[in-house]
Amino acid sequence: MKHTEIAIVGGGPAGLSAGIVAARLGAQVTVIDDNPRLGGQLIKQTHKFFGSRTHYCGTRGVDIAAILEQELRKTGAEIVLNTTVIGHFQPNILGLASSQQFTKLTYDRLIIATGAYENNVLFENNDLPGVYGAGAVQTLMNVYGIRPGKRVLMIGSGNIGLIVSYQLLQADVEVAAVVEALPYIGGYHVHAAKLRRCGVPILTSHTIKAALGKEYVTGAVICRVNRKFRPIKGSERKLKVDTICLAVGLSPLIELLSQIDCYLVYIPELGGLVAWHDENLQTSVPGVYVAGDVSGIEEASTAILEGRIAGAHAFLSLKGKEANPEAEAIIRDARRELAVIRQGPFGEKAARGKRQLQQYTPARPVIQQ
Ligand SMILES: Cc1cc2nc3c(=O)[nH]c(=O)nc-3n(C[C@H](O)[C@H](O)[C@H](O)COP(=O)(O)OP(=O)(O)OC[C@H]3O[C@@H](n4cnc5c(N)ncnc54)[C@H](O)[C@@H]3O)c2cc1C
Repeated sequence: MKHTEIAIVGGGPAGLSAGIVAARLGAQVTVIDDNPRLGGQLIKQTHKFFGSRTHYCGTRGVDIAAILEQELRKTGAEIVLNTTVIGHFQPNILGLASSQQFTKLTYDRLIIATGAYENNVLFENNDLPGVYGAGAVQTLMNVYGIRPGKRVLMIGSGNIGLIVSYQLLQADVEVAAVVEALPYIGGYHVHAAKLRRCGVPILTSHTIKAALGKEYVTGAVICRVNRKFRPIKGSERKLKVDTICLAVGLSPLIELLSQIDCYLVYIPELGGLVAWHDENLQTSVPGVYVAGDVSGIEEASTAILEGRIAGAHAFLSLKGKEANPEAEAIIRDARRELAVIRQGPFGEKAARGKRQLQQYTPARPVIQQ
């Protein structure tokens, strides 16, 4: 059994920023991540980031991960890799499992920055080998240098679908088409234009009906959809592909928060079930915070800012403002920057979700659907 003042679950941009801030202010910090490397989703992002100019816009995701890791290591915070937090026990105990051992970690404050998992789509044969999430394809290609296949059908034209399609082309994998159920492209047009210039068709108002193949994917059936997203009979066509890649959104990874009995609310704008939290990112359970995609699906820039707020507030609530007067200023500045990002066209949805969250009261510990 070990003890830490502030335990942080997840070493993506949110967890790293929370750790950097809390440790610099003067807290003893432990960051736990189940991967062999810090950075979360950033380690597979080889493209230059969009987003806020003050938050690494124009820098490759994998380089942002390295910068944040270096900053965290300089603080002397404890870093525990290859280790999954598999459970929470009362009162303040985390269960940590690695391939070697099971340990327990007690904490004074807890920041959950576990990110998100990829959504699936319902279609015939969607469990055939060769059907991947877009994040899995990125990990295979950009972290391990393995191509998922030779010819891919991408489902979803949000930024993830568009960026991963382009990265597939860069890896010499053919992209047969990008299929999108909405009547318009979801992601930035700059990414869509790059794909179109390479000859990749982006088929809006289309969906996938089935994966073809017995033991693995050998093709796909796509079709047009009407305004109610129902397949239009007779519009089916077959594509010869060996890989189907799903880029249809993410959902917050809230299992630990649910186990801790945090009050959970269903907010579609935030990606599904999220833990209710106040403007300091504190949940309905005092001393337990959230930051990043787990608090609502957004971007690395907002994850970094939320991490700063959660880290600084966890420090403040533990040590008091006399311990380091900088903490309050960090929170104030990060809140201001978050407000600016969320005023933009791509932050507006999350801003709406966060406002909706405040309409619920955490007094009732029930899941609202
Ligand atoms: C293709 C793609 C392109 C993107 N492009 C951009 C962009 O250009 N600009 C931008 O701002 N954002 C972009 N994003 C979004 C950005 O990557 C995410 O919003 C950001 O990484 C979220 O950070 P996070 O720290 O909340 O979660 P994550 O980065 O997901 O990190 C969470 C970490 O926690 C670990 N973890 C989870 N559960 C446990 C557990 N129980 N125990 C231990 N560890 C655990 C995970 O393995 C992971 O390492 C992109 C995302 C994708 C997929």
